Amino acid sequence: MIAENIERIYKQNCQNLGVLTSTDFSMIDKIRSGAEIPLSVFTAGEDEITRQIIECGGLFQFNVARIQGKVSLPPVETKPRGMTIAEKIFAAHMVAKDGCLGIPAVQPGDSGFARTDLRFSHEYVTPMAAIFFDQLVGRGAPVNDPGSVVFFRDHLTFLDDVLSEQKRKMGLLDLATQLKLKQGEFAERKGIRLHGELTDRKGSEGICHSVVLESYALPGQLVVGSDSHTPHSGAIGCVAFGIGTTDVFNSWITKDVRVRVPESVKVVIRGKRHANVTAKDLILKILSLDYVRSGKALAKVIEYAGEAVEELSVDERATMTNMAAEIGGFTGIVAPDKKAVEFLMQRRGMSGEQSEQMIQGLYSDPDAQYAQVIELDAAEITPMIATPGDPGNGKFIRDMNTPVPVELAYGGTCTAGKNEDMDMYARVLRDALKQGKKVAGSVQFYIQFGSQETREYCMRQGYIDIFQRAGAHIIEPSCGACINAGPGVTTRPDQVVISAQNRNFPGRSRPGQMYLASPLTVAASAVAGHIVEYEPSSERELITA
Ligand code: SF4
Repeated sequence: MIAENIERIYKQNCQNLGVLTSTDFSMIDKIRSGAEIPLSVFTAGEDEITRQIIECGGLFQFNVARIQGKVSLPPVETKPRGMTIAEKIFAAHMVAKDGCLGIPAVQPGDSGFARTDLRFSHEYVTPMAAIFFDQLVGRGAPVNDPGSVVFFRDHLTFLDDVLSEQKRKMGLLDLATQLKLKQGEFAERKGIRLHGELTDRKGSEGICHSVVLESYALPGQLVVGSDSHTPHSGAIGCVAFGIGTTDVFNSWITKDVRVRVPESVKVVIRGKRHANVTAKDLILKILSLDYVRSGKALAKVIEYAGEAVEELSVDERATMTNMAAEIGGFTGIVAPDKKAVEFLMQRRGMSGEQSEQMIQGLYSDPDAQYAQVIELDAAEITPMIATPGDPGNGKFIRDMNTPVPVELAYGGTCTAGKNEDMDMYARVLRDALKQGKKVAGSVQFYIQFGSQETREYCMRQGYIDIFQRAGAHIIEPSCGACINAGPGVTTRPDQVVISAQNRNFPGRSRPGQMYLASPLTVAASAVAGHIVEYEPSSERELITA
């Protein structure tokens, strides 16, 4: 595989499958001429473990050799040093040379295998990993510790609502059904918990990232998932990152994953936010910075800190860790503090003592080293949008020259379908109703819950009534429009949609022009009929910590 640029998960999948990769285009002529190319060309610059995996012909072959004692893991010999929170979590999860768990310290570049606390995958990825497992390990073989593996059916729940006749004829709906059946059958055979579709109505139990943060991930854990937005759970102070199909399959055998400790970037947001500025505005601002747009943050851990971050709830922090994926980061993380303790007590039913105990030691040392420290002043940030085409196209709404009318507004997804996102949609729509307004007649506003827990929260809070009276369409949890697979997708290239989701790459949610914004901005724009900042009654107030 020869390409200009090879993304981390893709490259690791290739190595795991025994597919050689290169960014050297001069190799094409050598291949065409039949010249012999030594394997060392493909292992040059790689760490010791990656070299062995490439030489073994793939990760599965390497793991078989590892289990048979034919290869050994090179020891990590980093001396104790000041570490970032992510480095501390990596060090605690690294498999040592003797097979025991944990080593004293790591530094960027150290590589090895890290023991996972939770492995999850959804219906796009599980079936292929299951086929690998059945073919290479055996249908009857057990998955290593199935209690720490979770599956989700969340991406394609509403696909048949929007699939064109042409794509149906191509068999895509049948394919989606096959993915569901294969995942369900494998889960049952291996005793793995599947968060699937509802049986009494259309919808899912929840989007994988929403459910993992609500019900599984804990501070200090190492969580892996088959999806680029796995960093979502970093909001509670764990290291959570996306892995490819081959790593998912191998982790079912070994319970560990190959890692190379990444460098960290610290983003410090000082000061107090304006009342209409949310975590989404902060992350759109970060995405618009030259450092990020030029790719310097790629593959790094993005650690968020500072007074304005400390003031955010775990739900809001998750918007920022989730969108570490749009930064191109390895993951995003926030050191757990009193807000994390509140979350564990209120949402997980833990005692204060248990929760405090859980976050002990989970902070970055004062002498921890960062590739870059970025400082922002929250008071200088006003509501943002990202114009169509890229989440990095951020600008302040007040800097837009002409009003932008919208036809569709969408509030949902893993990024913006959480409890606190619903608080924001409800706050704006309640204000509108009080002023005798509703969703504009020219706009279709869809609100989709991230999980059943969030749906039930909305029912308890009386939000369903507010949403319905204001004229919004409510949809059961699933990924949906975000990946062109549910209500809320555009149908024309000139159609403008404002969405609280995380990415607006061309074509992702069909042909329209997608602006990204916060839940407050999305709801306010749905009512106004064009893109506007939400203006709370205490406008211009700064939120006090
Ligand atoms: S809601 Fe969208 S971004 Fe989130 S997991 Fe689903 S498809 Fe991915």
